[in-house]
Amino acid sequence: MLKRTLYNEEHEMFRDAVRAWAKKEVFPHLEAWNEAGCVSREVWRKAGEEGYLCMYADEKYGGLGIDDFRYDMILLEELSSRASGLFLGLHNRIVGPYLQHFATEEQRARFMPGVVSGETILAIGMTEPGTGSDLAGIKTRAVDMGDHWLLNGSKTYISNGLLADLVLVAARTNPESSHEIGLFWVEGDMPGFSRGRKLKKLGLDSQDTAELFFDDVKIPKENVLGDPVKGFTTMMLNLAEERLQGAVGFAARAEHAFELTLEFITERQAFGQPVGTFQNSRFKMASMRTEIDAAWAFTDHCAKAHMNGELSAEMAAEVKLFTSDVEARVVDECLQLHGGAGFMDEYEISRLYRDARVSRIYGGTSEIMREIIGRGLGLGEPRRKTG
Ligand SMILES: Cc1cc2nc3c(=O)[nH]c(=O)nc-3n(C[C@H](O)[C@H](O)[C@H](O)COP(=O)(O)OP(=O)(O)OC[C@H]3O[C@@H](n4cnc5c(N)ncnc54)[C@H](O)[C@@H]3O)c2cc1C
Repeated sequence: MLKRTLYNEEHEMFRDAVRAWAKKEVFPHLEAWNEAGCVSREVWRKAGEEGYLCMYADEKYGGLGIDDFRYDMILLEELSSRASGLFLGLHNRIVGPYLQHFATEEQRARFMPGVVSGETILAIGMTEPGTGSDLAGIKTRAVDMGDHWLLNGSKTYISNGLLADLVLVAARTNPESSHEIGLFWVEGDMPGFSRGRKLKKLGLDSQDTAELFFDDVKIPKENVLGDPVKGFTTMMLNLAEERLQGAVGFAARAEHAFELTLEFITERQAFGQPVGTFQNSRFKMASMRTEIDAAWAFTDHCAKAHMNGELSAEMAAEVKLFTSDVEARVVDECLQLHGGAGFMDEYEISRLYRDARVSRIYGGTSEIMREIIGRGLGLGEPRRKTG
């Protein structure tokens, strides 16, 4: 088994604290949250009290002023395999960085204290009913009305969609150009902003994935993030971190599935011997151990590159592609080793199997990851001749 060298003693102490906290404040509620299709607001506030939300935020906003990606990795490793609908990672490492790095000081002063305390839950709205992978195809429109922007359109599959108090919404700002996109902070109580259904889905039972609607929402100029025609560039800058944090969760879920299965096959008997002692089981477990170790080695390598400001879009795409594939193979093999029990809800492996399916889809599909990696090799499609 791989001995990871990414963490020091302080990180491990933090891990112990997260484990103790999760045991008390998170894991006892999993069943209720799964039933409700949503985690509680309270757990967000409790995470805030512990200092687990956007810890890179400045102390003047209640943050810890510590920008060490490894603490967020530990949160993901300890929480995401069991509390799969509690999307702290989306808040901390997908939307939070927009506020930290690209917002105005005034926006940070207004929003960051709530974001850190857990009073303000974050979401991001890029995907629309008509388009996901092809962001240039979005139809949500923001029109400059002089003293404000007017937002119209809709978004779908939005994580934290029902709980979110602040949503960063991508909208087209120039009808003539598909690449001129702005990013707008939409606040939960803005007139014209409404939420649709909580979407029923294959997995992530306690995640409130939802549709969002914008009907003549007046967005004050102070709520524009950066240049209203350069949102694309901003989004691209954040995607590498988003994909890396996804990879951490995928590797963690594969690890959890492996641990559960090792325990199961050690106890389960067939033909008078533990299932784990059949050569097939031993070989499957050996192959999975190897793959999971490779997933951690690659993820940790990318985490180090990210902390040095050297994680490229291609490398982030590779680590997302690889770890989500490992997760998929591992949960499938682990379920098989559980036999019929693996198909039953009462065995955790069945939920891990369902949860894993989305890893190859959200945050950019595996096909889009291959596109990014392939283009990085200089293998873009040739331009077609016209006329
Ligand atoms: C549970 C969940 C949570 C999500 N959370 C969010 C969120 O918080 N915010 C948000 O904005 N979005 C969110 N999404 C949306 C997610 O990012 C998109 O679903 C994803 O990017 C794919 O887009 P799509 O669904 O439109 O699929 P499409 O783009 O329609 O793709 C359909 C198929 O075509 C393939 N394809 C598309 N283009 C190409 C190409 N160029 N080459 C080869 N194949 C291609 C895809 O890989 C896929 O297999 C979430 C989705 C899910 C399921």
